[in-house]
Amino acid sequence: MYATRFAPTPSGRLHFGSLVAAVGAYLRARSMGGKIYLRLEDLDFPRCKKEYTQSIIEDLKILGFSFDDKPYIQSEHLDFYEAKLKALVESKKCFYCHCTRASLKVKACSCEGQNFKDGALKIALNAKPYFYDNHLGTITLKHSLQDNLTLKRSDGLISYNFACVLDDELMGITEIVRGSDLIETTPLQIALIHALNFKAQAYFHLPLALEENGLKLSKQNHAKAVLDEMSAQEALLKALKFLGQNTDTLQVKDKPEVILACALEQFLEAKIPKVSQKIANLGTS
Ligand SMILES: [Zn+2]
Repeated sequence: MYATRFAPTPSGRLHFGSLVAAVGAYLRARSMGGKIYLRLEDLDFPRCKKEYTQSIIEDLKILGFSFDDKPYIQSEHLDFYEAKLKALVESKKCFYCHCTRASLKVKACSCEGQNFKDGALKIALNAKPYFYDNHLGTITLKHSLQDNLTLKRSDGLISYNFACVLDDELMGITEIVRGSDLIETTPLQIALIHALNFKAQAYFHLPLALEENGLKLSKQNHAKAVLDEMSAQEALLKALKFLGQNTDTLQVKDKPEVILACALEQFLEAKIPKVSQKIANLGTS
């Protein structure tokens, strides 16, 4: 059965860029008769805050989304990630690394086989710089890929890629629908999935919402909370328009749930743009 997830990082409130990903993943999942889960990727403790996790969950409710199952919050599953790491250490599938960012600039990591007992945990990968995307077709990266992927940093943080791959396997995700900013990490995640003998997934990358200066709309760029800027209905219509969907029959006076249901009825996946766009070009404010 088709299953996907919407997986925001709660380092701020839900902004328009995240809403576009939520609407895209939601329509794709429901149009396939599949499930969609909500996952909060809050393992980067210095950046993520519990209050943002709660506000994202609440904002999505106000916006009319209904997810299958209760929200999955990564920080509540640290034992799961640690147990997986322990098994990988014991089976010698990963290794401890003493390299620093500065030392890696001078020479490549050669810690594998040195049997260090502490440091960052890494896994050797053989990533291919291309993959097939169900929306964009074959994607080939222009730069070479690193050979080693960090699973756990020396300061104890579980890496984004490791947690993401473990959770996708655990949740039975069949297709990953997300913003195009994650295209670059996809080959590494695919290689990790292979290395861990997990089931392969399909990919569907959505266009990004860009600021007027061409930068991605993000918390780092101080993107505003979408529901502070406009009503839930206006936000949904704007996101649907951004995704190339026909919004002529949808009305701001309708409930958000109704707007999403109507959008699903007339959802045309082929209309979703393949390139990222500036939101100013939508003509709405
Ligand atoms: Zn190293």
